[in-house]
Amino acid sequence: MSRRVNLLALLLVFTMTIAAQAKMKALIIEGQNNHGVWPKTTQMMKGYLEETGLFQVDVATTAKSGSDPDFAPTFTDYDVVVSNYNGAPWPEATQKAFIDYIQGGGGFVVVHAANNAFGNWKEYNEAIGLGGWGGRNEKSGPYIYVNADGKLIRDTSPGRGGNHGSQHPFVVTVRNSDHPITKGMPGAWLHEKDELYDLLRGPAENMTVLATAYGSKDFGGTGRHEPMIFTVDYGKGRVFHTPMGHGIYSQECVGFITTLQRGAEWAATGKVTQKIPKDFPTMDKISKRPSGN
Ligand code: ZN
Repeated sequence: MSRRVNLLALLLVFTMTIAAQAKMKALIIEGQNNHGVWPKTTQMMKGYLEETGLFQVDVATTAKSGSDPDFAPTFTDYDVVVSNYNGAPWPEATQKAFIDYIQGGGGFVVVHAANNAFGNWKEYNEAIGLGGWGGRNEKSGPYIYVNADGKLIRDTSPGRGGNHGSQHPFVVTVRNSDHPITKGMPGAWLHEKDELYDLLRGPAENMTVLATAYGSKDFGGTGRHEPMIFTVDYGKGRVFHTPMGHGIYSQECVGFITTLQRGAEWAATGKVTQKIPKDFPTMDKISKRPSGN
């Protein structure tokens, strides 16, 4: 009898060890981007996701230019897909597989410049909520911003989608602190120098704005509070979107890092188990972790 109990105990310990070690799977997509730092920012984001202890991260890279006929990751192998891609259209079958993956309950994370991609891909734009450049205009959907009274405005006036003034550090203001991604964050925190995207437009359906940044006219901005952290419910899937992350310095910001880590976990599971780190920026103090790049 004791031998049998020992075997069972061993099996139990083994199973528990496996369960404790089982990590979620994340895939970062890259390969083309008008931001030349993309090979570095991919590695930075890979590191940020891995250091949570929650994710095992793969990277899928397209051909250097043009539509890559062989680009066909098995999206459904992953809990979350992160795009660092701003380039030529994917093959039709890959596009369909990607949308099926999100609609079927997959997580998707989109950052700076990846929201410039695929201006004419209807479902991609539904998934990301808002985008810029890539031929976007009033046909793409409304501009979305928060006015001085804190009200979310859907502005259907004609014009280009996507713009930014000169780079500068800016304050990110949390608009919804009940959401798992922003819960526990200071109500306002100073983000390291970045391009503050404005005039983004898109379908913006089932979209929740969690934080904004004021596009000061002193830096060529709109004088509006622009969406900086937001989510989209797309089919059964969850999309986390931040237009932040232009440069290496922008992605060294602890605010960016934390937002990415929490956004990815939320996109994968609908929950966030990570704590806000002690070195998180404050209203008047930038906080960075040097990446060595
Ligand atoms: Zn940029």
